[in-house]
Formats: sequence, C-alpha cells, structure tokens
Amino acid sequence: MFCAFPPICPKQKDIYTVNSFSELNLSAPLLKAIAAEGYDKPTPIQARAIPELMKGRDLLGIAQTGTGKTAAFALPILERLSHATERVAKNSCKVLVLSPTRELASQIGESFKTYGRNLKITRAVVFGGVSIGKQIDILRGGVDVVVATPGRLVDLIERRALTLANVEVLVLDEVDQMLDLGFIHAIRKITGMLPKVRQNLFFSATMPKEISNLASGLLTNPVRVEVAPVATTVDRVNQSVIHVDQASKLKVLVDILKDNNMTRTLVFSRTKHGADKIMKGLSAAGYTASAIHGNKSQTNREKALAGFKAGKILVLVATDIAARGIDVDGVSHVINYDLPHVPESYVHRIGRTARAGAEGVAIAFCAGDERSLLKDIERTIRQSIPVVQHALGKSNLPPAEHEARRPNGRPSQPQGQKRQWNPMGRDGKPSGDNRPRKSSGGSNRPHGGTGAPKRNNGGPGAPKQSGGGKPSWMQEISGAKSDRRPVRMGE
Ligand code: AMP
Repeated sequence: MFCAFPPICPKQKDIYTVNSFSELNLSAPLLKAIAAEGYDKPTPIQARAIPELMKGRDLLGIAQTGTGKTAAFALPILERLSHATERVAKNSCKVLVLSPTRELASQIGESFKTYGRNLKITRAVVFGGVSIGKQIDILRGGVDVVVATPGRLVDLIERRALTLANVEVLVLDEVDQMLDLGFIHAIRKITGMLPKVRQNLFFSATMPKEISNLASGLLTNPVRVEVAPVATTVDRVNQSVIHVDQASKLKVLVDILKDNNMTRTLVFSRTKHGADKIMKGLSAAGYTASAIHGNKSQTNREKALAGFKAGKILVLVATDIAARGIDVDGVSHVINYDLPHVPESYVHRIGRTARAGAEGVAIAFCAGDERSLLKDIERTIRQSIPVVQHALGKSNLPPAEHEARRPNGRPSQPQGQKRQWNPMGRDGKPSGDNRPRKSSGGSNRPHGGTGAPKRNNGGPGAPKQSGGGKPSWMQEISGAKSDRRPVRMGE
C-alpha cells in the first residue's frame, strides 16, 4: 500500500519491514491509545526508531514535523515509564523534552497525553509568556515528563522549582529551530546539569556542522534515523504561484477564499503587523479569521488555534515563528501571502497542509520585488512552481510568464482568458452573488457556506469550478518542471 509518510532514506530501507504497531512490543495500554487515534501502521521513522529506543539506545533523528516523529519518541518513553517502579522525586522529572516554541511544546504535551491516556503518567508543559507561579506549583510534587522551552526551563531551575538530577531520558526536538532562536547557551547550560548516564534523543530537520557537533557531544553510539528529504513533503502539495502587486494581495486573497474547498486555510505573513492587517481585512470581508504571532498572549494564541482546529475559524494568519509546532490535521490550503526570505521556511510552511499523510494545496503570492525570493525557493525545492493567473493580479505577470503564454509568438489569450472569472464588476465593484457578505448563522465564510463544496449555484457571475476541481480563477500558465531529485533542506 502507498505510504504517504516520507520514507526512510534508501540505505536504511531494508530495515523498514514493520507493518503494524503490535510488532513493536508496545504494551496493551499504548496499543489501545494508538488504535483510538486511528493509526493504521507505524510511519517509517516510528518503525525504525521505536525498537532501538526500547533497547535504551541514543537516537539521532533527521526528520521534520509531519513525519510522525513525536510518537516515535513519545511511545517508547511512555513504555519505559509504565514499567518504572520508583515514584518521581519532588521537584524533579524523569523525562525532559526541550522544544523551540510554546506551540510545539504544547503539541508534544498533548501527544504524551493522547498516547498515555491509559497510563498513570504525570506531565508538565512549561514555557514563557505565562505565569510562572502555576508551573512552580505543578512541579512541586515532581512529574514524570517535563516538556519545556529552554528559556523558561532555566528560569525554573534557577528558582529551584525543578532539578534535573533525576532525568533518565533527554529529548531535544527541532534542534535547528532552537539554534535559530538563539537557545544554544540555554541548551548547553541545561545539558550540563543532567546526570551523566541517560538516554538521549536528538531531532533536527537539518544537520549542518554546528548541529552535528552538538549532537556528537551529547549522543553515545546513536542509531541514526533519517527520513526522506523534505522534497517528499513538497511533492505531496499541489503548489502554484500568483504574480500580484503587493497592494492587490488582500483583494486576491478575499477572492480566492470564495472557493469552498478552502475549508481550513493557513495564511503566512512575514511580519506581525502584516498578519494583523490581513486578519482585519479578512474580517472586514466577512471571513472568520484570527492572527497568531509573537505579540499575541498565550491565551489569545491558544484560543485562535482551538477555533481553527474546531473549524470555527476559517483562516488563521500566522508568522513563521508562531506557526512552528502548529499541528492541525486537515489544513486544506496554505497561502504564502508574503514569500519568506529563507527558502526552507517555504518548505516548512507548505508542509502544514500535507500532514498525517494527507495531500494539500499551497498558493504563493509573489509581488514584483519578491521574484528573487521565488527563484531561491524554486532552486531549493528543485522545481519550478506553476504560475496561475488571477484577474486581479495578471498585470503583474513577469515577462517570462508573458512569453510562456505566447507559444509561437501568438497571444494565447482567447482560450485561457475565457476560463477566468472576474469577481469584480466592470466598475471595479463586486458583482452579483459573489459579493462577500457578513457571515451569519455560525458560518465562517461570507457566503454562509459551511465549508462543504456546495457553492456554485450558477447565479450570474458565480464562480465556476473548472475541470479537476480547480477554482475558476485559476488558470495555469506555466507547468512545473522538476527533476524530482530528492533534496535535503540546507543542502
Ligand atoms: P509529527 O511529525 O509528530 O508532528 O506528526 C504528524 C502527524 O502525524 C500528527 O498529526 C500525528 O497525529 C500523525 N501521526 C503520527 N503517527 C501516525 C501514524 N502512525 N499513522 C497516522 N498518522 C500518524
């Protein structure tokens, strides 16, 4: 059967023969929890890592989110804890998981809760930006698992709320992100306080020299598990780019959101201010939208995420940092409203829509001054992203794409133009049924739809879905060229 999770790299393929969780020697309470989650079989990283971790080995995992890496480490840790006879001492923990962001920390905490639901395992998730008092209270009696961001953890240790003297297992998750965020000193400080004998798990999506040096200082004879490169995730996402002036981006977004297939859309903005502006624009157009970024309080972020997960919020606008660790299954579309300056961020962003083996759609907006960023991205993913045209953005097509539309030197306009739908009337005002209306009756989009593809009532000017489920505004101009050679981030 086709497995949509990225495979283990070819050299390790022979080892991947596990077809069910029951082959992994996990105990009944864990198997029950896994079954309740609906997991059919282990993902490649789980199949490879779990048996080695159950033997107590150290692990170097080169994998990004979306591969099932959280269960790959949480399950063997829970198995180990379930056999423990000694209670955890006061103000201490047996397992320490370090995460770069609060969102990822919460997510990991949730995973421990989910997989450990049939076990008596205690846990605490600690990060900055919220009251430290409550966290001190929780740690007082000791907990089995602490999931923490490095800064807050150091703070708690300095206040003597927690000692690391009893840590048996250390997990460093998304190490590359932790280093990007400047946590190297905190990490060195924390690892210096740990007992010498312990099991170490180290995960990073990329392995530049700085990170492999850190890994070799921490790990003892680790098993190395490398899941297939990020391009595999990229391949599962149906990508396109629209060339559009910066000033028209909001109008284009408002328009394309009329597609009822966009049931859960994540929009990426480069700046916090930009995220707020987009969110306000969408709200004014009648869409339920929220923004998450570093200036939002933790409560605010959690509320937005919960609303997005529950389908009450149709569009979540996020900055890159805030989006790390967002683990929401069923994100239908990712919109790159601004192109990221770091090409790898594009891969992380669009990977949000291809989680849990699903496929997704990613649409990038490219303004004139972002074309070099687009080129960098295409170089990184070794694919050219198909250009599609939107009526509100067509004047912004770069010369190369104009050429692509004119094979044989003749304008290809008649055929292509017919398939376009311009939601704006001749006078520039929205026309007919397509005019966004304020939502009513609990709907999260202005049309009063529920997310199911039930628009297109054929009214005048109504958007028609073109063949292959494409929305009417979408007219492909250039096809993707790709040598499909797998590419590793940071290569
Ligand atoms: P992660 O890479 O840990 O962030 O996991 C990505 C997503 O995959 C999460 O939504 C998990 O719930 C899901 N997942 C993890 N393991 C499996 C599995 N064996 N089968 C199906 N989904 C899984």
